Amino acid sequence: MPRRFICFPLFALWLFFHCCSCAYGVDTITAVRFWSAPDHTRVVLDFKGGKPAYKQFSLANPGRLVMDFENAVIALEKNKIEVNDGIIAQVRFGQHEKDRARMVFDLVQPAEASVFTSEKNHANTQRLVIEIFRADLQAQAKKTRAQISASAGNDRVIVIDPGHGGEDPGAIGPGRMQEKDIVLKFAHSLKKKFSEMEGYQAFLTREGDYFIPLRERIQIAREYGADLFISIHADSNHNHKIRGSSVYCLSLKGASDETARCLAEKENSSDIIGGIAFTQNDDLNFTLLDLALTNTINSSLRFGALVLKEIKKYHLIKFERPKQAGFIVLKTPEAPSILIELGFISNPSEEKLLLQKKFQNNLARAIVDASDRFFRITAGTDETPHEMATLRRSRMPITADNP
Ligand SMILES: [Zn+2]
Repeated sequence: MPRRFICFPLFALWLFFHCCSCAYGVDTITAVRFWSAPDHTRVVLDFKGGKPAYKQFSLANPGRLVMDFENAVIALEKNKIEVNDGIIAQVRFGQHEKDRARMVFDLVQPAEASVFTSEKNHANTQRLVIEIFRADLQAQAKKTRAQISASAGNDRVIVIDPGHGGEDPGAIGPGRMQEKDIVLKFAHSLKKKFSEMEGYQAFLTREGDYFIPLRERIQIAREYGADLFISIHADSNHNHKIRGSSVYCLSLKGASDETARCLAEKENSSDIIGGIAFTQNDDLNFTLLDLALTNTINSSLRFGALVLKEIKKYHLIKFERPKQAGFIVLKTPEAPSILIELGFISNPSEEKLLLQKKFQNNLARAIVDASDRFFRITAGTDETPHEMATLRRSRMPITADNP
């Protein structure tokens, strides 16, 4: 889905309202941005001043969500934003009363909203996130994923996760390229390569420029019944000379933290996590879940080693073997999961390379070949004798919780 970004900085207006804010403790709404996902729209407001005080209510016929901001003024050039993404038709805003700003979201179909503040991006600025979602579209997407999982048969299901998205740009290169855009482009070409191969089906956790919380990404992979989960990122370092690709798997510390979390939360969640049905015995539950995660880490390390071996044919690799860290997105007991840092966006020449079609094709080829080799080895149909020795070596745990 195309990214749309709206920001109307008006210095004179800002200066005026900023002075008002200082004098009277009034908050100023300085920017409105939105990102459209298939089942929700995320609207982010920037506030200058204190923590926004708001009231929200819904109106029917036509369906609207209304938000009133107390002690707030709007410093935006327009009073309307066209959205038209199937969730929201438009957002209208204005000064309802002297110290009360009003924002009205015209809904396409009945939708629900969740509102939360996000961390400050810089001093004296608060972000308010308004997520408007259609429960019917969310249910439909879940149903589609379950159908794909049920009908996959002998096909291998690969879930590709382009990192970041929406208001989270990830790392930004010296040429101003954003990680979220590079990894999305790459993920689409990787998906295409997998889909062209017989016996493979590939899906993305996000298809466009919007953010999905990390645990939702795991959930999406789970619903597809993923055989492999591949998260795609681009690295960054203050030293702009550093370059090369790397692969991460979950660390043992990350696995035991996740086991503890799952058990702590089991009262509020399903009684089956990661295919493990909970018993009455907590010690046994811990052991079973821990075993499942440790087993998956070993498979992920084998898969990661194969990916590095294939990438090496086309590009420099930063580490010879997969590194291990406690990345949330890798915490699934069901499928081998790896995170690939394609290269360093902070390195000016690698930033340009990351955008090149040939480079993207080569790295996608490497990942597809490594996946195919991985499945042939695990099925016992790979004829390359030295391959097993390489993989056995990569089973040795590598300890590095911090990449
Ligand atoms: Zn990243």
